[in-house]
Amino acid sequence: MIYFDNASTTKTIPKISKNIGLWMEEFFGNPNSIHSDGQKSRRVIENVRMYISSLLNVESEEIIFTSCATESNNTIIRGLYESYPEKNEVIVSPIEHKSVINPIRYLSKKGVKVHFLKVNNEGIVDIDDLKRKISNKTLFVSVIHVNNETGVIQDIEGIGKICKDYNIPFFSDTVQSFCKINIPIEYVDFLSVSGHKINAPKGIGFLRRNSNLKISPLLYGGGQEFGIRSGTENPVSILALSESIKFWDKEGESLINKLTELSNKFIYGLLEIIPEVKIINKDSKRIPNIVNVIFPKIKGHTMVMALNSEGIEVSSGSACSSGSPSPSDVLLAYGLSEEEALRSVRFSFGIFNTEDEVEICLEKIKTVYSRLKSLTDFF
Ligand code: PLP
Repeated sequence: MIYFDNASTTKTIPKISKNIGLWMEEFFGNPNSIHSDGQKSRRVIENVRMYISSLLNVESEEIIFTSCATESNNTIIRGLYESYPEKNEVIVSPIEHKSVINPIRYLSKKGVKVHFLKVNNEGIVDIDDLKRKISNKTLFVSVIHVNNETGVIQDIEGIGKICKDYNIPFFSDTVQSFCKINIPIEYVDFLSVSGHKINAPKGIGFLRRNSNLKISPLLYGGGQEFGIRSGTENPVSILALSESIKFWDKEGESLINKLTELSNKFIYGLLEIIPEVKIINKDSKRIPNIVNVIFPKIKGHTMVMALNSEGIEVSSGSACSSGSPSPSDVLLAYGLSEEEALRSVRFSFGIFNTEDEVEICLEKIKTVYSRLKSLTDFF
């Protein structure tokens, strides 16, 4: 199979997968035990914490290991809500990931007023709208750095500066941007990262919290991770995460160049085959590995299934529960009609993909598209 669904998850770097068994034997001790094996595991965790904090240029106690970005996002959102009950408004972009939108919906049920920021038809947040909505009642502002469906990059430095002027916490989901583009950390109080998006295994992530601000924990227990995330830490996954970050840090420029070449080859090849396709954010600031395509006439789900049967794995932007797909809220926020949004297919490239795979994929799209198009013409 040719795997072009890297925004969903990535393959673990082989060197890391191979080492995991060995690390499990070596770092089996509970990092909270004071004996030698426990302290061996503790040292692994604290070294990684120091490494990540120095990379981000923050204090080491500001890095909290979690199981995934969903947990980080919930901890930040619900943790702020519980810590500052006097603030009863939040400001959020309409193109956040569900792991941000749904905890914010939970706050709304608790009586918090939610203001959605306007975005233009390129999905870019309207900064003037933020200036109109922000006030001393604002609990926090949340704007995703890079959207997972379209790859569009937000000006989080500009947004963070406004939050700083008003002394309001700024949170950005940096799951799709971390290791790929610079994060202007001096303006971002809270951020979330997930290992499996950057070639580490699933089940490990972290959050950064500005230690001048309070967040209460989701989980109460042994008080690990500075009391913000109780539960025995996983030294092996934390080590695996750090190895993947080191890999991206060392190879970053060439990896990004490779991803840019792959996506350009794909985009221009696709436009030659089907000139009527619409590519979301084609000419705006976008990370190179995510390309969201609206095919004429054919539903995204149908295209995904047809490509899968030809050996190409991609995803559609629409969520499918109870058998009938619903359009992506993110694409609706761009101003697309429901019918158009249902035709979206996301191709997301990764560091193990090759130009040959792009060529094969284009050939398969050509075949599948002409087959499906003739069927839709017929009906
Ligand atoms: N935020 C963004 C932007 C994502 O793309 C994802 C995963 O798809 C998440 C959060 C959730 O990450 P995790 O799978 O680690 O919970």
